[in-house]
Amino acid sequence: MLDVAVIGAGPAGSAAAKRCAEHGLETVILEKKRLPRDKVCSGMIIGPLAQTLIKQEFGEIPGTVLSRPPQLNGYLFHTPDLDNQAGQKLDFFIPLTFRKNLDFWMTEQAGAKGVKIFQGAKVTEIIEEKHGFLIQYEKGLENLEIEAKFIIGADGGTSIVRKYLFPQLKVPYNQAYEEWHQGSMELEARYFHWFYLQKSFPGGFAVHQKDSLIILEFGGTVHVPKERIQWAKEYLTANCGFDQNQEPVYRGACAVARLAGGLVSGTFLPAKKNVLLAGEAGGFVLPITGEGIGTGLKSGLLAAESIVQAVKSDRQADGIYLDEIKPMITAFREYSLWVNKIEAAAKGSGLLLRETMAEAHEASLRMF
Ligand SMILES: Cc1cc2nc3c(=O)[nH]c(=O)nc-3n(C[C@H](O)[C@H](O)[C@H](O)COP(=O)(O)OP(=O)(O)OC[C@H]3O[C@@H](n4cnc5c(N)ncnc54)[C@H](O)[C@@H]3O)c2cc1C
Repeated sequence: MLDVAVIGAGPAGSAAAKRCAEHGLETVILEKKRLPRDKVCSGMIIGPLAQTLIKQEFGEIPGTVLSRPPQLNGYLFHTPDLDNQAGQKLDFFIPLTFRKNLDFWMTEQAGAKGVKIFQGAKVTEIIEEKHGFLIQYEKGLENLEIEAKFIIGADGGTSIVRKYLFPQLKVPYNQAYEEWHQGSMELEARYFHWFYLQKSFPGGFAVHQKDSLIILEFGGTVHVPKERIQWAKEYLTANCGFDQNQEPVYRGACAVARLAGGLVSGTFLPAKKNVLLAGEAGGFVLPITGEGIGTGLKSGLLAAESIVQAVKSDRQADGIYLDEIKPMITAFREYSLWVNKIEAAAKGSGLLLRETMAEAHEASLRMF
């Protein structure tokens, strides 16, 4: 029987698995996709938490992992259905990547520490046994299984580990949709551009440019309406030199679980017995900003450390983990207060919205 099975090879899973292996635990990662894999994400490494943990756990990000440009100088916030003024700037340092490259670099480092990586291995079932868990997975046409004493579910927004732990949990989902277009635009290329639409707030869109691509991103409660995508493309064509008739070279979509509210209220506890949820599977995605790399890394590391303590003390890991994540939950709770301020700004004249969003993002940089 293995010591630890980590499900998912994103930042949370790789950080957790690497830390477990460094403590001498026999660890595997089961990842449903072939690696390197794409992930719908802007690939920005935002804030001290993410930047410090990557440096500490994995080292300086190599040039081959960074995109072109390798960094952005900050955010520009626009309210295009209210005014056509230049956006409000928030300057800060943002290393820029494609997640495919960033995540693969981290997973390889977990492998170098002795973690066995099973790719193309989709976990389908978890069964509790007397001394651990039986994990069933599909690999190609084969149905296989392994046994492990501990499980870390780092399998993202639609986590099967979370479904196994809490089959009755009703998870609210947002949808994220991304299109990549070839070319460049008349928008400051060194900034990430947030466009907030007051008429459909909190729906909006975001644009950034890297490696000769224009990347359009949309988020929506439940789903992204087609009319919003059309509106954004028409606006960008009329104002920013985009060509709305150009076909994208890539399209991607994903479901984003909204569990931060449950974490903060205590109605959702991301652990049971010796199964721990980290990263997006555990709800560790910041409300408002939607960032999750830093909190994914942090929760993955705390999950690994909790298992190490559980092994040493012969205790179950869940109580240890739920204690370890308390400071992060407190920070989430404090940060969530911004939601009310933003809602009030959106309901008012709207002109405060841009400034309030900039302040909320600035606060997240101080806190995470
Ligand atoms: C549009 C968008 C833009 C974003 N931009 C940023 C940003 O710029 N910066 C930032 O910090 N955050 C950003 N985020 C959030 C960030 O992408 C996530 O929070 C982060 O990827 C979570 O990491 P994770 O390790 O928890 O999960 P993931 O990175 O989602 O990894 C989970 C892994 O589990 C695998 N998996 C799933 N099910 C199974 C299964 N049954 N068996 C085996 N493997 C499985 C998946 O294939 C995947 O590889 C963005 C999100 C979206 C939607």
